Amino acid sequence: MSDCIFCKIANGEIPSDFIYEDEKVVAFNDLNPQAPVHFLVIPKKHYASLNDIDSKETFADIFSAIPKITAKLGIKDYRTIVNTGESAGQTVFHIHVHVMAGRKFNGLAG
Ligand code: AMP
Ligand code: ZN
Repeated sequence: MSDCIFCKIANGEIPSDFIYEDEKVVAFNDLNPQAPVHFLVIPKKHYASLNDIDSKETFADIFSAIPKITAKLGIKDYRTIVNTGESAGQTVFHIHVHVMAGRKFNGLAG
């Protein structure tokens, strides 16, 4: 999608340091990190949210990348979050999985 910031990051229009890239997904550090490690994993193809994903392979592409990235970073414990919809806290409407680590998380709110 032409006006989507994460599409622009994925296709290189906005320069970004990918911490991971394969044929289907890219991962990059969050601009406003909420933990010492906080990166986002996104499919290269635009899906506005979890509600729009139309293939099981897309889930596999995203989630199978995560343990490869964390292993590379030497991380065993991490939190994954997917916000879906405005009232759930979604602000960028290109699906992304937050991966956070490096601090203690306290319950769901922490
Ligand atoms: P969410 O609120 O779940 O939609 O998450 C959107 C996330 O994208 C936030 O944590 C932002 O800090 C992050 N973000 C927004 N723009 C950029 C960008 N250009 N590069 C990296 N992260 C970004
Ligand atoms: Zn997009």
